[in-house]
Amino acid sequence: MKQDTKIVTAGRKTKWTNGVVNPSVTRASTVVFNTVAEMNNALKNRNNQTMVYGRRGTTTAFAFSDAMTELEGGAGCALYPSGTAAITNAIISFVKSGDHILMVDSAYEPTRDYCDKILAKMGVETTYYDPLIGAGIEALIQPNTVIVFLESPGSITMEVQDVPTISAIAHKHDCIVMLDNTWGAGINFKPFDYGVDISVQAATKYIVGHSDVMLGTATATEKYWPQLRDNSYLMGQCTSPDDLYLALRGIRTIGVRLKQHQQSALKVANWLKGRPEVDTILHPAFDSCPGHEFFKRDFTGSNGLFSFTLNCGNREALTAFLDGLTHFKMGYSWGGFESLVLGITSVDSIRSATKWTAEFPLIRLHIGLEDVDDLIEDLEQGFELFNQVLADS
Ligand SMILES: *Cc1c(COP(=O)(O)O)cnc(C)c1O
Repeated sequence: MKQDTKIVTAGRKTKWTNGVVNPSVTRASTVVFNTVAEMNNALKNRNNQTMVYGRRGTTTAFAFSDAMTELEGGAGCALYPSGTAAITNAIISFVKSGDHILMVDSAYEPTRDYCDKILAKMGVETTYYDPLIGAGIEALIQPNTVIVFLESPGSITMEVQDVPTISAIAHKHDCIVMLDNTWGAGINFKPFDYGVDISVQAATKYIVGHSDVMLGTATATEKYWPQLRDNSYLMGQCTSPDDLYLALRGIRTIGVRLKQHQQSALKVANWLKGRPEVDTILHPAFDSCPGHEFFKRDFTGSNGLFSFTLNCGNREALTAFLDGLTHFKMGYSWGGFESLVLGITSVDSIRSATKWTAEFPLIRLHIGLEDVDDLIEDLEQGFELFNQVLADS
């Protein structure tokens, strides 16, 4: 089955849909049984998509988990109330005091904060590594290293990692390979084909796709699925069936949405490339993006999120640019239908293993589903304001 067909059919078993197109929203705390035999049977099958208690999920959760596993791969998918909860719980499911993990330097900032503020307190040590380290990862693996965590492309700076090379070396040393696959969305990058053991996503982003739900997922291989699932139960992780319903609805259009985000973002990035104020386009599909060769080798497409650096400017000019935009609002959680912008002057503060050397600010864009010519016009007048302030300063 081709991907666009899978996007339409994933998770739609009659068992979950009762014969209509979409699964029902099954809200529950208590699941009630009429006989001891029924109750015992449910308990016996509690790890096998059988309703026993609301926290362990209802049919809506089972439908969404199935859909994610069918799309991304793996043996099962655990659900969390946010992408951050998916990351922290996936890690905590496999570490104990005295262990060591390797974390990519370009990780999402709350992932770093979790390592520095929670794992450190529990006696789990983190070493940050250069996202472009490739085979060099081997030198950082210690006897107590249990997880090598990747995020590709990296948050803000967009470095694409050599996932299969890092995975192969990690496995040689019995380390678990975890990937934050939010940008790939389980659509444009298939983690389990490249040696990943556990793939985490902020479903908040492209899976939900409409900026109205927080949700996290972690899909795992056969080997790690039971431990991930059991720990998610032990930690009391659960998600709302209403949110899961919206996420299932989001999935049905993710194919066409991503194609449009991709097409518009490429047009904007190409336009930016010709702007005199722009230094480097950090879009994985551009050869100016670090790790572009791995994007070309391993990904089947891109989306609406990329960054670029400026070759001039100051804080005031950047502020004039950002304040002057009409269609691009400032906001963090990308992946919805709307365009977003972030101006960043302090990449240094979220890196420790690598040095960020760009002299001028970085701008991250999420290109939404608006008409792309309106977006380019918006950016053009933003640059006019930017240049006015720069000329006056
Ligand atoms: C947004 C994001 C997260 C966190 O997701 P939340 O649902 O906001 O907690 C994790 N990783 C990446 C790469 C993200 O962009």
